[in-house]
Amino acid sequence: MKTILLFIAAFFLLYDANGQNPKEIGLESINIRTAESIIYFLSHDVLKGREAGTGENGIAREYIISQLMDMGIKPMEKEGYAQQFEAYRSVGARRYKTTTRTDTVPGYTNKLSLYNILATIEGEKTDEYIIAGAHYDHLGIGKVVDNDSIYNGADDNASGVSAVLQIAKAFALSGEKPKRTLVFAFWDGEEKGQLGSSFFVNHCKYPDKIKAYLNFDMIGRNNDESKPKHVVYLYTEAYPEFGENTRQNIQRYKLILEPEYKAWDKPVTGSDQVPFALKNIPILWYHTDGHPDYHKPGDHIDKINWQKLLNITKAAYLNTWFLANDF
Ligand SMILES: [Zn+2]
Repeated sequence: MKTILLFIAAFFLLYDANGQNPKEIGLESINIRTAESIIYFLSHDVLKGREAGTGENGIAREYIISQLMDMGIKPMEKEGYAQQFEAYRSVGARRYKTTTRTDTVPGYTNKLSLYNILATIEGEKTDEYIIAGAHYDHLGIGKVVDNDSIYNGADDNASGVSAVLQIAKAFALSGEKPKRTLVFAFWDGEEKGQLGSSFFVNHCKYPDKIKAYLNFDMIGRNNDESKPKHVVYLYTEAYPEFGENTRQNIQRYKLILEPEYKAWDKPVTGSDQVPFALKNIPILWYHTDGHPDYHKPGDHIDKINWQKLLNITKAAYLNTWFLANDF
């Protein structure tokens, strides 16, 4: 009898009236229509390619912040969602360096005010973090190709932003406080050399408390039209459980994906996972590979593979849940 009562109690603790557990409530909130609306806005011509330091990049930023406010997801810092920093390039230098707003830098030719967006869902442990991030800047306006000069960046990286926003919303809707604290990050200046993510990591006072970083950069295209389920799934080699978790979730939740699993000992090129990997923070990165419109004006919304984007977002939400609660 006692066992039965315990079982019933456990059932009501774990499941709501519809028989769903919190993880699955969050999972079911992830949908194609939301991804479409986010990518439609961010990759629209009126945003002129969201180049870091431009007014249109600022519109993209305010849009992302308004989405987070609507979900009830709080800013990470008490000053607000935006983490402001500056990037400058010295005379003759190709690469930008980043600095805080108050530092003075002599001898630069080019200086930009940039902004990361940082939001959080506090966990039971407030000193252990899982971060999910995507860059929201793109290349702006550039060389004309096929009568088009706006580099819309629907795949690069409105697709990644849509995933991080949907994962944040799914956690909020699950109604369950995660064990670890979640941070949702939207990086500025990736296209100019991973400036936002580098600034964040290099000014973070607790890199050892970041237990994992999930990166999203270009997750909406087919690099081979005959393989619409293809995605590259990169992760830090020392954590085989990152690969195992994805394999199990794909099977259990019948996700329509055929990942190429790439365990990587030092994942230090390519995108915003670099500064994290350099600090030995374990990383995971979904990426649907190169395509003919990569860094071209033709990176348009009508070429997105919505089914794949949906399934990657779901898989990554399940990874995030695992990292936050069970790892
Ligand atoms: Zn990118």
